[in-house]
Amino acid sequence: MKIRKTTIAILLFSVLFVFCKKSQAPEVITPITPIVPVPEKNLTNSTAVEYYGPLRVVGNKIVGTGDSIVQLRGMSFFWSQWMGKYYNASVVKWLKDDWYCNVVRAAMAVENGGYLTSPDTEKQKVFDLVDAAIANGMYVIVDWHDHNAADHLQASTKFFAEIAKKYGDKPNVIYEPFNEPLQVSWAAVVKPYDQAVIDTIRKYDPDNLIICGTPTWSQDVDIAANDKLVGTNIAYTLHFYSGTHKQSLRDKATAALNKGIALLVTEYGTTDASGDGAVNETETNLWYNFLDANKISWCNWSVADKAESSAVLFTGASTYGNWVINQITTSGAFVRQEIRTKNLRFK
Ligand code: MG
Repeated sequence: MKIRKTTIAILLFSVLFVFCKKSQAPEVITPITPIVPVPEKNLTNSTAVEYYGPLRVVGNKIVGTGDSIVQLRGMSFFWSQWMGKYYNASVVKWLKDDWYCNVVRAAMAVENGGYLTSPDTEKQKVFDLVDAAIANGMYVIVDWHDHNAADHLQASTKFFAEIAKKYGDKPNVIYEPFNEPLQVSWAAVVKPYDQAVIDTIRKYDPDNLIICGTPTWSQDVDIAANDKLVGTNIAYTLHFYSGTHKQSLRDKATAALNKGIALLVTEYGTTDASGDGAVNETETNLWYNFLDANKISWCNWSVADKAESSAVLFTGASTYGNWVINQITTSGAFVRQEIRTKNLRFK
């Protein structure tokens, strides 16, 4: 009798539990309303990579099919060892479908628990993003996210040889061998490292873009322009943070362009160089004017829900995209609007 009573109680509880679960309203995803209207754009009948084709460097520009000048806009992911939760195909697809990104950047951490500690784990995150970018017809930058890469040349060349063998025949992939060198010599430290990685990649992939870092956190592009790397389809990384870097850095970039090198902003923030501080929309708009005038491609830092103002997501935002407006930060909304306004929308 006692057992029967218990059994009935369990049965009743189970029925109630199932009923309650079923009667819960499905999670409502509110579509994000653009802050200002974006131009009407028909969905193009191709992907970005089908549309622009394999990228090449011609003079100080990046060009695609038919030598047309290409300017890409998209998002950089955050250090892979700390924000690996966003390195998945759903986020990449959401960045294409909702943000209109045509490029993403995998920032594979090297030090601080990154590739040097867990090569297979961190490498897999890069593979996941690259595979997702290929599936969505987007470009993808494979970034060796390191401030001391010249000390890790052996690990770096091993990694880039593997990437070049695996993906070198895919027009989607762009290599970035050295995120941000510190205040070290271009001629003695950074250039020899960049050249060694270029030469390694070119053993397996004769043509995909390689975007090289320069001293002072990838700001000394003018110094590199006076002492260029050797190879085809080589461009240089320019990084800026609008709250810190202003006209004087644009002047350095102009000097570099005038010397005939191509630039690509693989990373910039709307904030201070720390990644935090106020979002400086006025200065960022001056940068956008400069980048558009010179057709310089860019990725914004960063896809993260870290509590800092350059992160595009608030803490706890879904790790699979589908972000609603109250999950996107001030910087995130500002950057998303810029991308949606200016990029074509691709399949
Ligand atoms: Mg290739």
